[in-house]
Amino acid sequence: MAEPITTSEEKRSLNFVEQIVADDLKAGKNSGRLNTRFPPEPNGYLHIGHAKAICMDFGVAELFGGTCNLRFDDTNPQKEDTEYEQAIMRDIHWLGYDWQDRLYYASDYFQQLYDFAIRLIKEGHAYVDDQTSEQIAQQKGTPTTPGTDSPFRNRSVEENLDLFQRMNAGEFDEGTHVLRAKIDMASSNMHFRDPIIYRIIKTPHWRTGTKWKVYPMYDFAHGQSDYFEGVTHSICTLEFVPHRPLYDYFVRLLAGDTAQQYCPRQIEFNRLNLTYTVMSKRKLLQLVKENLVAGWDDPRMPTLCGLRRRGYTPQSIKNFINAIGYTKYEALNDISLLEHAIRDDLNANATRVSAVLNPVRLVITNYPEDREETMSMENNPEQPDAGRHNMPFCRELYIEREDFMEDAPKKFFRLTPGKEVRLKGAYIIQCTGCTKDAHGNITEIQATYDPDTLSGMPGASRKVKGTLHWVSARHCVDAEVRLYDRLFSVENPAAEDADFRELLNPDSLQTLTGVKIEPFLAQTAQVEDKYQFQRIGYFTVDPDSATAGHLVFNRTIGLKDSWAKEQKKAN
Ligand code: ATP
Ligand code: MG
Repeated sequence: MAEPITTSEEKRSLNFVEQIVADDLKAGKNSGRLNTRFPPEPNGYLHIGHAKAICMDFGVAELFGGTCNLRFDDTNPQKEDTEYEQAIMRDIHWLGYDWQDRLYYASDYFQQLYDFAIRLIKEGHAYVDDQTSEQIAQQKGTPTTPGTDSPFRNRSVEENLDLFQRMNAGEFDEGTHVLRAKIDMASSNMHFRDPIIYRIIKTPHWRTGTKWKVYPMYDFAHGQSDYFEGVTHSICTLEFVPHRPLYDYFVRLLAGDTAQQYCPRQIEFNRLNLTYTVMSKRKLLQLVKENLVAGWDDPRMPTLCGLRRRGYTPQSIKNFINAIGYTKYEALNDISLLEHAIRDDLNANATRVSAVLNPVRLVITNYPEDREETMSMENNPEQPDAGRHNMPFCRELYIEREDFMEDAPKKFFRLTPGKEVRLKGAYIIQCTGCTKDAHGNITEIQATYDPDTLSGMPGASRKVKGTLHWVSARHCVDAEVRLYDRLFSVENPAAEDADFRELLNPDSLQTLTGVKIEPFLAQTAQVEDKYQFQRIGYFTVDPDSATAGHLVFNRTIGLKDSWAKEQKKAN
């Protein structure tokens, strides 16, 4: 087994989970073996919270030379589907992790779990209860008062065996019988108060079909599945702290004395929660089912496929997760830190291009009608060897409508009659006037250019206050741009009394058509390519481009960094 790596790329100290693993390895536990697992339920798409768990489960195995399984905890056929299974595998691979040949399913252990349940009945550790789950819940008691015994608690072994087998044979309706572990109705841990371990479900299972009519509860499957797989460190989120003793209890019953030598060790860390979004799979499913978003991969969703479509990179997500870290305390993470991470990544890596979102025509009146020039534009000032690309220049251009004002205040350093600005990568121009339609809308702006101000010419270094982006009206191509904003208009939708659907941000999507993009962009853009639109923000090519008949760009994130600004203020 490799020594803990302390000389990794970015030298950082071990987090508390890694420290526990390092100590176990050092102590020679499990003969120096390290095996983790990521255990999703295939009942929804992965979101950024899952990414935090994935980075931990796969990351810690990678760090110490261990292995990580992918195990689908598929114990509830009513909610599961292979669509989710496939999407989950795709998203884990996208993050850059691989389980190799260690793909497992809790449903592979249904026979072992059933046999174990039969054994528990025979040994007096489980009984069939004919009450409804509501009645059972009512008898649970409270954390400070003991629960009440079920009237069926002392059934004979024979009767329990007969009933459980008939439950599985399909003789009873759903909800009429359950199998409960017989532990302690007065335990201070509510999970020990005779938890339900099997229930009847008649919906066919997506993997085992109609073979089973009884299915183990998550709590009866999870810990034992870890055990069957030889998982040494079962890392999960804090809400499972009170479940841990129950998992240990079942494994000890299952393994007997051998549990002394080997029992999966559960370690819990805090969940990832993000402001201005929801992380509950139930709520995300509702948004999809009720068409409040355009599917699981809607670029406003916190799902990994949504973030990918929005333009997030795996590295930016990992950097964000690294920055928030792993602790034992629940927290609400600021979404602007995630936005900061992608802005950082795209600033370093995205090609700079020109696109005019809200175009108005600009005519350079002293530029010859029949003349065209090629301007050379830097692809990325952050990367010296990123090269350059060409951009055509002519008499008619488009600039942003917001970059012109007829009656401008003193501090307006963009275009206004009489004033000069530089056209990025081209000439200095001076505004001479504008033309309006019958309603007073500006239809055209006029300017003259100073031929001496191109790069390499004597007037090139002449300073003007503003620089505007532009495209050639003769050469540009139309595109569609989708401006995304935060999905919810309140910071913590889960904490509000109102139905979360009423808290959706009504302006989270604005679609612009007739956006003018430079020809280089039109010719080279491929789905998922990322660009910086000069002076505007970062944009990613949407898959819809393949069918829309024009390029479609998603705004990944604007240029303004509220996180960095707040940090500066704080320091
Ligand atoms: P469910 O309510 O369906 O159980 P879940 O979010 O727990 O939803 P799972 O598929 O069971 O979904 O999650 C797989 C793993 O991801 C679990 O180990 C869980 O602890 C972890 N996980 C889920 N949500 C988060 C989160 N927000 N932050 C960190 N880890 C998470
Ligand atoms: Mg879960």
